[in-house]
Amino acid sequence: MNYRINQKNGDKLSILGFGCMRLPAKAGIIDEKRAIKMIRDSIKKGVNYFDTAYIYHGGQSESLLGKALRDGYRQKVKIATKLPPYMVKKLDNAKKIMLTQLEKLNTDCIDYYLLHMLTDKAMFDKMADLGVMEWLEDLKGQETIKNIGFSFHGSRQDFELIVKAYPWDFCQIQYNYLDENNQAGLSGLKLAHSLGIPVIVMEPLRGGKLVNNLPKEVLKIFERVHPQWTPAEWGLRWIWNHKEVNVVLSGMSTEDQVNDNIETASQAVSDSLTNQEIEVFDLVKSIINERIKVPCTACGYCMPCPHGVNIPGCFAAYNDKFLLDEKMYRWKYAQALGALSAEPAFASKCVECGRCELHCPQNIEIRKELKAVAKTMEGVFFRPVVGAARKILKIR
Ligand code: SF4
Ligand code: SF4
Repeated sequence: MNYRINQKNGDKLSILGFGCMRLPAKAGIIDEKRAIKMIRDSIKKGVNYFDTAYIYHGGQSESLLGKALRDGYRQKVKIATKLPPYMVKKLDNAKKIMLTQLEKLNTDCIDYYLLHMLTDKAMFDKMADLGVMEWLEDLKGQETIKNIGFSFHGSRQDFELIVKAYPWDFCQIQYNYLDENNQAGLSGLKLAHSLGIPVIVMEPLRGGKLVNNLPKEVLKIFERVHPQWTPAEWGLRWIWNHKEVNVVLSGMSTEDQVNDNIETASQAVSDSLTNQEIEVFDLVKSIINERIKVPCTACGYCMPCPHGVNIPGCFAAYNDKFLLDEKMYRWKYAQALGALSAEPAFASKCVECGRCELHCPQNIEIRKELKAVAKTMEGVFFRPVVGAARKILKIR
């Protein structure tokens, strides 16, 4: 296992982190015996960063991790877990969630604590206004939590606003070879690093899509250059090639995935990809991009939309549907466009004012394309379902 040092606090973190959101499960219930064994085996092989969240596996993930880390394993690892901001209407909600988390995780200290899935600056402002950040600082003073961070899904512009709005101890972003210029992207990674903020990467393989949904043409190219490298290995090596990345989280569901990823993590180092390998990624990306519906590069020049549409975010979710044969595309779209945030940024919010099109270097007919996005990604039942979810969660 290779390790990288957290530049803020000196923690020596395994470059592979275990994401506990896709543990082996049967009929929605985690296969406890198997998951605990996978976690403990990974610790024996050097993994020391475990990422969970209040909501993973419907609340079972934290409890499972707490059980897996009994018998002396807790002392060998760092635990990361997350507070869901959309469930926090007042500070007391956050306090109750935290108590539950400590109990489930069977610990008196959470090493890395994140605001979960910030999608825009308004979400962070709301947490700050409710006193959540001050409360977290108190907890840090008492060593109940050790590091305060956030995970992010939103536009590059919002990432920049959030990352500069608070002296974060770390952040977590979606990053992989297809998302080099999407969401926080490479520029966000470099910005966080330049501010001295460690970066944890999530979705390194787009939830397995860069393993299971690749066009055959792409698989052949990978095989021709390194027959022994799997698509997962290609994807992970691309991320670890970036020295700015501290930990890559993989949501592992099988023993083989754990073993294969650990093997890759014991070989991959930064700035090690050859020119030929980098050319392979360029070629693969170009093939994938051919399948893409809207040639948006996520440059963000069209932003902000005065009516709150996350234009590059809409196009990214739309493209994924066709590129990766994404089955859960409406859920992914809802998540990426902040369905549960204060101001969702759906394509259907476009009033066709046309301002954005004046700035698009790709000359995309943004209004026309957003109509297509809304038709495909939202459909008839989308808004009522999202509206009902927001009502249940009391989101205004
Ligand atoms: S055309 Fe639509 S997306 Fe573009 S700025 Fe106007 S409302 Fe926003
Ligand atoms: S300006 Fe054009 S290419 Fe850039 S993010 Fe907006 S739609 Fe995409």
